[in-house]
Amino acid sequence: MTITTDKKTMNEWADICHGIAREKGFWDQERNIGEALMLVVTELAEAMEAYRTQNDENFREEIADTFIRLLDLCGGFKIDIEQEIVKKSLKNKQRPYKHGKIC
Ligand SMILES: [Mg+2]
Repeated sequence: MTITTDKKTMNEWADICHGIAREKGFWDQERNIGEALMLVVTELAEAMEAYRTQNDENFREEIADTFIRLLDLCGGFKIDIEQEIVKKSLKNKQRPYKHGKIC
């Protein structure tokens, strides 16, 4: 698989991220959704550690890892993330100010 720098949709990135993960054997066995979700969390934890140690380059890389894991999950579990973001953003737009939340 060749990765180019041209702009892509999120669903295209989901296909790419999932394709690479498949190529590397991470989907050889059926993937557990809980494990896939927690792998996203581990990348966020790595980003927090990079931020804490003021490693800006690593921080950016771990944020990218987080998206890559999420997009892989979307590709693997057939989630049309573009459609889901549109639907949820429309729902969020209709909510009242802070809708009962503190932050
Ligand atoms: Mg990482």
